[in-house]
Amino acid sequence: MRDDYEAACAAELDAALDRVPFYKEWRSFDPGRDAPVDRRYAALPVVTKRDLRAHMPKGFVPCDRDFKGAVETGELELVSTSGTTEDRSSIVRHQPWWDASEHAAARLHTGLDRVINGMQREAVLTTPLCAGNVCHIGDLTAAERTLGRLLFLNQKPDPNQWTSDDMDRMISELNAFDTELLEADPAYLAVLARHAADRAVPIRRPHFVSLTYEFPSRMHYRQIRRVFGDTPVLSSYGSTETGHVFTQCENGKFHQNTAYCRADVQPFRLAYGEAHTGRLLVTLLRNPWVSLLRFDVGDLVRLADAPCPCGRTAGLTLESIEGRTRDLTFAADGRAVTVGRLDAALDGIDGLLAYQLEQHDRELYVLRFVSEPGSQATVAAQAQPRLQSLYGPEADIVTRPEAALAAEQSGKFRLARTLFAWDAAALFTPGGSTP
Ligand SMILES: [Zn+2]
Repeated sequence: MRDDYEAACAAELDAALDRVPFYKEWRSFDPGRDAPVDRRYAALPVVTKRDLRAHMPKGFVPCDRDFKGAVETGELELVSTSGTTEDRSSIVRHQPWWDASEHAAARLHTGLDRVINGMQREAVLTTPLCAGNVCHIGDLTAAERTLGRLLFLNQKPDPNQWTSDDMDRMISELNAFDTELLEADPAYLAVLARHAADRAVPIRRPHFVSLTYEFPSRMHYRQIRRVFGDTPVLSSYGSTETGHVFTQCENGKFHQNTAYCRADVQPFRLAYGEAHTGRLLVTLLRNPWVSLLRFDVGDLVRLADAPCPCGRTAGLTLESIEGRTRDLTFAADGRAVTVGRLDAALDGIDGLLAYQLEQHDRELYVLRFVSEPGSQATVAAQAQPRLQSLYGPEADIVTRPEAALAAEQSGKFRLARTLFAWDAAALFTPGGSTP
């Protein structure tokens, strides 16, 4: 198994250096084809989102492939990534590879592959802006939002705009669709679940709930579990650029989809962050049309420190996905604080419904939050000491209740942000760990 993985990683690297225009400049970094494959990868730079915007598609398609012809015949399509206009790029989608990546990833959670079989009836609840090339804003009938076995529930770019009628409609469509898999942005599903719980609207439970698109807060899980009971709720990690990279197994750990990607982690430098935590670099495997090596997805992960009891040992096992690199905040002594750590610190505060931590400068932190009616004071009182202990005794913590916290232009929510500039690349050690 390990041999197959290493062989696939070496083949991908050789092919990229030989035949893919973007990597021509990378040849001088390669210590040579006789060197161990992990060492060869660790010697390479990373591909950034800026590189994708500048060189996709042609720079990343092997030069002996007829890209134009494949687009004309429909074998390939160009899809746009989510994000703001300046973040967005056009990605080459080879659907058979994407489907194979999804099916393989589904085997990493027991029973999920029986549901994700290419024919599953699937309801999607996310921003209407980020489901591939499909856009469903405005009043459309359920039939107009149904694409074969897929139903897109949402029609508004921010769940703060949902009315009670909107939410009743989505629940009734979900129930009528005979949904096997509900794929949802956790922030969106949490709002819908809260509505169902508060109004006692019954939801017909699907076989699985898969959370994707953005970091699932413990607060989201709690609200979702209230309504979905013993339905398995798992987190599925991937992106438009990379396909399906990690799946959360029945024990809560994340396992790597080793047949379709290589994963490397560049840990934090010791002065800046915790051991075993770092930024994720993804390499696509077995994709005949796109060569992505060490792509910095922009997310942080924490490696598990022991094997998972489920027995899956291939590739990396993660304790958690820790949120986006750009959403890091910093303790008063300069240590980086991931969204995952922040979220853990605020876990279990009664009445807390949504939050965003804004770090204004090196010592001023403002927690903007939305709470259940009447619980503003108790939420603030619980949050204050937790944040003090997370950011340090010198930290100046301010709590600020809000009526609502808006989604970003991309439709995603940010749980944390800094209002000053810092250099992300300097936080991480070069190279990258491998299993
Ligand atoms: Zn496991």
